[in-house]
Amino acid sequence: MKFSILTLFPEVIEAYVSASIVGRARQKGVVSIEAINFRDFSTDVHRKVDDSPFGGGSGMVLTCQPLESAYESLLPLQQPARVLMTTPTGRRFDHRFALELSEAQHVVLFCGHYEGFDERIKTLIPEMEEVSIGDYVLTGGELPALSIVDAVTRLLPGAVQKFTSVEADSFYDGLLDYPHFTRPAEYKGLKVPEVLLSGNHAAIEQWRKAQALERTRRLRPDLLES
Ligand code: SAM
Repeated sequence: MKFSILTLFPEVIEAYVSASIVGRARQKGVVSIEAINFRDFSTDVHRKVDDSPFGGGSGMVLTCQPLESAYESLLPLQQPARVLMTTPTGRRFDHRFALELSEAQHVVLFCGHYEGFDERIKTLIPEMEEVSIGDYVLTGGELPALSIVDAVTRLLPGAVQKFTSVEADSFYDGLLDYPHFTRPAEYKGLKVPEVLLSGNHAAIEQWRKAQALERTRRLRPDLLES
């Protein structure tokens, strides 16, 4: 699977995707990730990629030309492909969305900056979908793009050493994860639940399921409804 990330800050992307589980998945060839500076595609003499908004107001808007040209340099995309614009106004990114993206061969991510994109980019690239990582506003689309790359990569076979650990994580089966404990069995008077020390795997499994259900009911009842 391939990710192409169009950004003004490829070094931010590169630093993150070179480390830890995503970095190893890259080395193993599970995923390929390229960060492309769309400033390199600007036809402006000063390599400008933004301009002031028509109608006035504060902030700068990303112009269509460098983004469109950078995108065209990627064509043809490996199919099936998904093309995503990061924006607070988009569809909320969640586990289901991550699973959908994990089916693609090629995911293109546009990282905005300043006030965001000239609206016409959506008409120029009609296959583009809008994606948000939550109801708050960041300064740029790099963290949203990296969140998506990370969440999707760990769903790919071979990215995480034991896929059973991915399946046991929150949201995979619709529930939140159960609580985890490690050594020592007692720390500052705080004891690990007895059942986890029992060696009785059936009892441990049952306890974990019950904990996951109780936690979901208490913290995220909306997950049980859906
Ligand atoms: N004017 C935009 C608005 O109010 O919806 C916000 C632009 S934001 C300052 C700059 C860029 O950061 C956006 O173009 C987008 O790429 C990214 N961004 C910020 N918050 C985001 C979020 N919650 N989800 C996805 N992308 C986000």
